[in-house]
Amino acid sequence: MFLMWIVPLLLIGLVVYVISGDNLVNALKPFVSASRKCPHCNQAAQNDWKNCPHCGQTL
Ligand SMILES: [Zn+2]
Repeated sequence: MFLMWIVPLLLIGLVVYVISGDNLVNALKPFVSASRKCPHCNQAAQNDWKNCPHCGQTL
């Protein structure tokens, strides 16, 4: 029976998807929170940068 194989595979796939989804969110959290934009030129800047490397604006 083909369907008898599909059901457990779908369940495993769902579990893997949920777990990997959580890991993906956790992996992206520091990256997302660490990234910000320069208020002057709107270029990407990091939290530990004191000045924008693109326009020199103090961040
Ligand atoms: Zn800038």
